[in-house]
Amino acid sequence: MQQLHWFRYDLRLHDQQALLTSDYSKSLTCVFIIDEQWFQPTLWQTRPLGPFRQVFLEQAVAELSDSLQRIGQRLLIKYGNPQTIIKELVEQLGITRISLQKHPGSFERRQIRQLKAALNVEWFESESFTLFAEQQLPFPLSDLPASYTPFKKQLESVCPIAPYSAVSKLPKFPKQLNALADDSWPTEPAQEHHPFQLPFIGGERAGLKQVDYYFDENHLSNYKQTRNGFDGWDFSSKLSPWLALGCLSPRRVLSQLKDFEARQGANESTGWFYLELLWREYFQWLAYQYDTRMYHRRGVRDVNPLLSFYSEYYTAWINGRTGCAIVDAAMKQLKNTGWLSNRSRQIVASFLVNEYQVDWRFGAAWFEQQLIDYDAASNWGNWQYLAGVGTDPRGKRTFNMTKQAQTYDPDNAFVSRWMGG
Ligand SMILES: Cc1cc2nc3c(=O)[nH]c(=O)nc-3n(C[C@H](O)[C@H](O)[C@H](O)COP(=O)(O)OP(=O)(O)OC[C@H]3O[C@@H](n4cnc5c(N)ncnc54)[C@H](O)[C@@H]3O)c2cc1C
Repeated sequence: MQQLHWFRYDLRLHDQQALLTSDYSKSLTCVFIIDEQWFQPTLWQTRPLGPFRQVFLEQAVAELSDSLQRIGQRLLIKYGNPQTIIKELVEQLGITRISLQKHPGSFERRQIRQLKAALNVEWFESESFTLFAEQQLPFPLSDLPASYTPFKKQLESVCPIAPYSAVSKLPKFPKQLNALADDSWPTEPAQEHHPFQLPFIGGERAGLKQVDYYFDENHLSNYKQTRNGFDGWDFSSKLSPWLALGCLSPRRVLSQLKDFEARQGANESTGWFYLELLWREYFQWLAYQYDTRMYHRRGVRDVNPLLSFYSEYYTAWINGRTGCAIVDAAMKQLKNTGWLSNRSRQIVASFLVNEYQVDWRFGAAWFEQQLIDYDAASNWGNWQYLAGVGTDPRGKRTFNMTKQAQTYDPDNAFVSRWMGG
């Protein structure tokens, strides 16, 4: 059995069940594919992979390559169509087993479905992009609760899976791999560094360091009070970019949260943090269940949204020129840094959908391009929620912009910072 591990959203060595079960009497080929589709225009005048996430991803892949090299392995980096590349490798290297981590993105799932139909190999799919495995859910996926609260309640009694410790040894790579050269990234991100850009560095090491940093007593213990902040590093964990690319396993984060609670005591903040991880979890299972409906205009709720497209409104929104200061400040931050707080994401999404009545999918696609922490399920799931076509039991919520600004930016610090006032 010659194994190929396809690294996708699991750019790490910890919690790697698929690698731990490798057969040492056979070879192991590790590959990462830069998908050509990431650079193609979408239906929404955007492209799937914007410059901020590209830089972060390049860093994460480079670090993974170094880590594998340190334990005698090699990461083959290829650019192109993933199905073609995987098929060629299977043929060239006599691969009999493909391992990977499951991911709920519908695009990614279609690729795997097509490969499964085309290749006669054994598949091993680990489930560590989520906290729980599908078998642990106390309901069949087809009965996934229609909103978050019953989901959360039903999961209260389910015991999380402990993360696997990091692999420190792997089977050798096949000799034929020496003849294959790595491809380089097709475009250099053109985005200039902005003075207010947050210090995100791609890779497992920086992700693990950030968990230790944030789970420092002062930060995590105050999460409930600080989590609605607009700007800055410490008001929330900032773990999302590492979770989105799998530089961090959510199970590892949860196990450190439990350790923290055992050491320092649980409080409202640690409990709230767990609830946020469960929001992420809910959207992942929603994507598994609804697949392409995550991207459908009528959403998982199957209702008609406000549906129009005013290009001048959309352009004003993207560039932070709507005339609503709190929205413009946030949109400038997103355009220039690839980051937005959760509060800002809700405000600008509500503005686009309710005040401008623009088709929510344009907003979701802009976020997909811009966000350094883009995650298919969390992004499209949250957008649907705010557009009233998703899993919000209230149907739709409209934010009062003046009230939001007064409550969360009372001294105007955020607006002044970004609008130069
Ligand atoms: C319109 C919209 C689009 C969004 N798009 C994304 C996205 O593409 N990728 C992404 O990771 N998150 C997305 N979110 C959710 C949320 O805004 C971010 O996860 C959060 O701001 C990341 O910052 P943090 O890591 O400091 O979060 P913390 O507040 O420290 O929360 C800890 C973790 O919990 C999870 N989490 C928290 N809130 C949510 C939420 N509402 N939905 C899902 N997971 C959550 C994240 O994994 C996060 O890292 C979106 C929210 C909205 C309203």
